[in-house]
Amino acid sequence: MAAQKLSFYIGTFLNPKDDESSDYYKTGLLVTEATDAGARILDLLPLERGVKKYGPRMTGRNTTDFGDALILPGFFDMHFHWVQDDVSDMPKDSLLEWLEKYTFPAEMKFAKRSYARAKGRQFFKKLVAHGTIGGACYSSIHEHAVDEALKYARGDFVVGNVLMNMNSPASLTQTDAESIALTERLIERHGALHCFTPRFAITTTPAVMRAGSALADRAGCFKQTHLSETPQEIAFVLSIYRKLPGFERVRSYTEIYAKTGMLGKRSLMGHGIHLSPKELKILGQTKTSLIHCPTSNAPIKELGLGSGLFDFRKVERAGVRWALGSDIGGGPFLSMFDVMRSFVDQNKRKHVSGATYVKALYRATLAGAEILGLNRRTGNLNRGKDASFIVIPLNGLKLPDEPELLLKRMIESHRGNRAHYSKLITAVYLNGKRQRLNS
Ligand SMILES: [Zn+2]
Repeated sequence: MAAQKLSFYIGTFLNPKDDESSDYYKTGLLVTEATDAGARILDLLPLERGVKKYGPRMTGRNTTDFGDALILPGFFDMHFHWVQDDVSDMPKDSLLEWLEKYTFPAEMKFAKRSYARAKGRQFFKKLVAHGTIGGACYSSIHEHAVDEALKYARGDFVVGNVLMNMNSPASLTQTDAESIALTERLIERHGALHCFTPRFAITTTPAVMRAGSALADRAGCFKQTHLSETPQEIAFVLSIYRKLPGFERVRSYTEIYAKTGMLGKRSLMGHGIHLSPKELKILGQTKTSLIHCPTSNAPIKELGLGSGLFDFRKVERAGVRWALGSDIGGGPFLSMFDVMRSFVDQNKRKHVSGATYVKALYRATLAGAEILGLNRRTGNLNRGKDASFIVIPLNGLKLPDEPELLLKRMIESHRGNRAHYSKLITAVYLNGKRQRLNS
């Protein structure tokens, strides 16, 4: 039998388990084993025990000591627009205005393949440097932009082109037939890595949503769109649909997606801020997931769109699954640390209990992998999973006894300079391979 090829990593570890718990090793040892399909996690244990168990096999060559750095699983960003990185810091007075003034013009530039390629190379390098190794991604309407994104994405991502057939600028409008043919081709090329992506009910005809949903279901693809982000958006959606045949008596935004086949266990609905109990019930019954993007929904003075506070307790009571997303460019920063901080801050301000950093860490990692159906292979540092993790130096921070306090101290020490969250991670490992971050 061939000898096992092991690697050893020493550091402070947090391994998210669920909303209430993270395994915590102040000084721990992560053991990984090389396989044909990349490295897998073999063990995670306190260093002292680890040295007893593996000591004779640990050498200067196969052991990396990160000192007091914190090691976490990589992040899953479950809602972001890779084509909006350039508009994340544009003024955001209202969602619909921001789309028209900045976002649509930015997305039009991706019509040129060479532009999409250069941007793809740059963006996905930046994403992995932020520790994000999986998630669900919106592209522009252009077919080749999805190809470029999937070519450069490092990790477990599903990507879809936004579909726009009505109420959109002329240069970003496709016919129904074009949208459906495009979906067929992308599914054929990328299989389940393609994500069926009507931009939202305002821009995508019911015929396209119906036909595309059926195609996606047949191929086992995920579907994603936006739902109930702002009251103006909801009013606009209902005013459009109540004039369409078959939707005259539609009572809610969610019902529109239910009637077009958009809901289900592979459906990711971005935002869901303003949902009635009836709508939440439909989402729960259909096993649809909500993706919460706190930095994007945050007040305008915090660089968000001011859409309101996501009521996670109501969502959980209704049995609806949810995970976190950055919603770049509605959200201003790519870092999931900033997203976690915003989730905790906004709930704390409204005196909502239960919005802890331990919960935020779970919702930024394993919960996303669970929703994507990848949790047997990735999402945390359990035995048997991909050796994918990120390293954050703690610079002498005194280690508290509780994981909650450790995350709080580490994350909140940077809240005065949110751009700084982009610089916290010094190493990212994907399937055991250290990624080049700044070249
Ligand atoms: Zn979005």
